[in-house]
Amino acid sequence: MQTDTHDVVIVGLGPAAYSAALYSARFMLKTLVVGENMGGQLAEAGEVDDYPGLIGVQAQQMIEAFNEHVKKYSVPIVLDRVESIKKEDGEFLLNTQGGSEFRARAVILAVGVERRRLNVPGELELLGKGVSYCSVCDAPLFKGKRVVVIGGGDSALEGAEILSRYASKVYLVHRRNEFRAQPIYVESVKKKTNVEFVLNSVVKKIEGEKTVNGVVVEERERNAQRKLEVQGVFIEIGFEPPKEFAKKVGVETDPNGYIKVDEWMRTSVKGVFAAGDCTSVWLGFRQVVTAVAQGAVAAHSAFKYVIENKKSLSA
Ligand code: NAP
Ligand code: NAP
Repeated sequence: MQTDTHDVVIVGLGPAAYSAALYSARFMLKTLVVGENMGGQLAEAGEVDDYPGLIGVQAQQMIEAFNEHVKKYSVPIVLDRVESIKKEDGEFLLNTQGGSEFRARAVILAVGVERRRLNVPGELELLGKGVSYCSVCDAPLFKGKRVVVIGGGDSALEGAEILSRYASKVYLVHRRNEFRAQPIYVESVKKKTNVEFVLNSVVKKIEGEKTVNGVVVEERERNAQRKLEVQGVFIEIGFEPPKEFAKKVGVETDPNGYIKVDEWMRTSVKGVFAAGDCTSVWLGFRQVVTAVAQGAVAAHSAFKYVIENKKSLSA
């Protein structure tokens, strides 16, 4: 399907993308959003209480509000995955998994990050049957049950803290003896009487038939294995940037694979901007409020770029 050239095509459908779409539309740019999963990571969240002005809002309500706000400005949203972006005759040509083709004068990448997998037997087979990647979302489902949380960063420690309020027993399995998480989280979890730290240990497999019934952990120094009898497994081992996608698009990344941007959200490719979790800035502090801020700045930069380009073409 061939369409007219848009001023801006925004790739992604999380908070950064919605914000970029809103600002682009308000800059009167012909805007299109192509994104796969409505709300992005927010779709996995429960209550959000750190977005100024919205007190204790449900993440789902927030997504609906983002959607309505963009609709108010008549920005079309195409639910699809962008597979490639190429420059052709001074414009960008975007091809999607669904077979569509879009043309744009400028592109904003707001593709977020993906949850890191453990890559052990049972992980994918038992996903949704006891295996979860989101403690905040699924903790209430494990009331009175025994669970394990894997990881040593803020997500894992925050997850263990939340789960300790619901589960009867929480094992925190971490591959080292030291934590990456902020000390305040570690100290808070240490005080919980139903949390047991299983350190210097790795999960070898997740067991269960229809649902999880345990995990096999190995103590790294002694190679000693044991089974923890649990009904829930929370994998909280961080996120992966969209390295492959960035490579395909041809934008430079930082050594970790995040898309390099300057303070105006400009990537290494002229006319391509990026916003939100996929970018190299503000690593270590990822919030809805930081993602929407970057989306707004990216839209402003795209606006300036499109106007300048139109001027130089008509000169
Ligand atoms: P995001 O939420 O990860 O959204 C990225 C979106 O882009 C997803 O919808 C993703 O779909 C889509 N996407 C990825 N690759 C694509 C492609 N090639 N073509 C089309 N769509 C593609 O990222 P964000 O908007 O940058 O950031 C959201 C912020 O919210 C983060 O800072 C996060 O930490 C924060 N957050 C906060 C809370 C809280 O409780 N305070 C809760 C959740 C999130 P797929 O998912 O299908 O890949
Ligand atoms: P992270 O900081 O990258 O930590 C990931 C943890 O998982 C690390 O302890 C790491 O171990 C471990 N890990 C990684 N790969 C593993 C594997 N294959 N097997 C076993 N363990 C593995 O990720 P995060 O905790 O999700 O946090 C992501 C970002 O969001 C951070 O910037 C964080 O500060 C932020 N965040 C903030 C809050 C908050 O402030 N409320 C809450 C959640 C997240 P090593 O330590 O040995 O590398």
